[in-house]
Amino acid sequence: MTGGAVTAAKAGVVGGGVIGGGWAARFLLHGWNVTVFDPDPDVQQQLQAVLDHARLALPALADTPMPAEGTLRFAKSLGEAVDGASWVQESVPEDLSLKHRVLAGIDSQATASAIIGSSTSGFRPGELQHITEGPVRILVAHPFNPVYILPLVEVVGGDALYRETLERACTVLTSIGMKPVVVRNEIDAHIADRLLESVWREALWLINDDIATTEEIDDVIRYGFGLRWAQMGLFDTYRLAGGEAGMAHFIQQFGPALQWPWSKLTDVPALTEALVQKIAAQSDAQSGHLSVRELERIRDRNLVGMLRSLKERNWGAGALLNEHDRRLAARLTGPAALDADSNGALRLLDICVLPGWIDYNGHMTEYRYTQVFSDASDRLLQMLGMDAEYVASGRSYYTAETHVMHLGEAAVDQALYASSQVLLADTKRLHVFYRLCTAEDDRLLATGESMYLHVDRASGRVCAASDKIVANAGALAAAHANLPRPATAGRRVGERKTE
Ligand code: NAD
Repeated sequence: MTGGAVTAAKAGVVGGGVIGGGWAARFLLHGWNVTVFDPDPDVQQQLQAVLDHARLALPALADTPMPAEGTLRFAKSLGEAVDGASWVQESVPEDLSLKHRVLAGIDSQATASAIIGSSTSGFRPGELQHITEGPVRILVAHPFNPVYILPLVEVVGGDALYRETLERACTVLTSIGMKPVVVRNEIDAHIADRLLESVWREALWLINDDIATTEEIDDVIRYGFGLRWAQMGLFDTYRLAGGEAGMAHFIQQFGPALQWPWSKLTDVPALTEALVQKIAAQSDAQSGHLSVRELERIRDRNLVGMLRSLKERNWGAGALLNEHDRRLAARLTGPAALDADSNGALRLLDICVLPGWIDYNGHMTEYRYTQVFSDASDRLLQMLGMDAEYVASGRSYYTAETHVMHLGEAAVDQALYASSQVLLADTKRLHVFYRLCTAEDDRLLATGESMYLHVDRASGRVCAASDKIVANAGALAAAHANLPRPATAGRRVGERKTE
């Protein structure tokens, strides 16, 4: 992993199950040190599985180096987990008396300035905060599974929480790539679970009444409105359904249906043993051939692919990821901010090979190597001082020549990194040698070599770069002059001599 941590802060994670594990992974991968307390003897093993998933998914969403991963510890007591933590996240089972006990323990032992978030899906902050004596610092921070990929976190402070604490909480959550949505008035189940509950109730009725199976209901969602919701939500989707006449027209058209018996929302089917078994059997028939871990991996890959697509369009959750990239990149100023790889060159980019990058040979396809080196060059130029403002001022580097050598094969999900060695830097030219290696064992998979020319974009003519860029590039080239020159630098595409 590369780069300095965003912060050396510590997070205490209390309850390391599905959700606590996801929180731990998100904090760790953003450079926080994390201490987990969970009495379950299997917690370390479970958390390792979550972390394995997260290491493949979260860095694959970033187009800038993630902070160096923090350290993970397991505490023997609650006090040890929360000691020195600036954020404590409670994720114990949804049982009010248990939450009270655990939150009281956290509140009495956590640092005075620490913020305490509860992952509760349904309890209001008012139901949790009264157990504390001092100033209130417990709030609801309700995430979504998998916490290390999905950005949404519903933040509910309630009347007793100071605005300043709420704002501080949102700043922390934003810094770890989340989208805090502050719920104005506390209600049971916040916003998202209230909406989900209504869909869940209808789905239970549909199965109970033999209208649909679990698979048919999932099909209706994933082939249809689920895709629309993922990128536009409910209201923008219906705005479009109203056509040019807009939202009011949509409501006029479908408003009468609200009076028809389309929905059974206020009724709940009795969860009889027969209904539970029916749902479980249908679910087994639908997906029982896959283990939970396999399904999680499929879910994560799909989410990463969808999010990357939204990222390309700078829309919704994708726009948030682009904003997060900019925040992560802002901490990398000047050449010293990045780590050296095993060759002493600059480690610029950590990536994970995505499923869509694989060709018919089962390996990373050719043009993705060029893309990775190109992304690495963007990172390098940005680091040298070529930011958006600089480009807007009419100056930029253009690529004059590129040569890629393929030396090994990259497989799906493999973690790789790209590094650069500056071979020459003068006022107008930058000659860079790249290496693409496996993160696990530093195996060299490809090299890239490019010559960049600094250009006045209006005239299209080569011109001198700014003093700052020339100085930064010169300093890097001078440092890299001590490294052995790569044996294949300057190599042309050649034919091996045959007898
Ligand atoms: P889980 O059962 O997977 O994990 C709970 C963990 O808490 C277990 O590992 C358990 O050993 C541990 N635990 C129990 N008592 C403890 C104690 N006294 N101290 C420390 N750890 C203790 O449950 P989960 O799904 O992770 O849910 C945790 C919380 O997150 C709940 O409040 C739930 O409503 C909320 N939540 C769940 C989801 C979801 O999709 N699962 C989504 C958002 C929020």
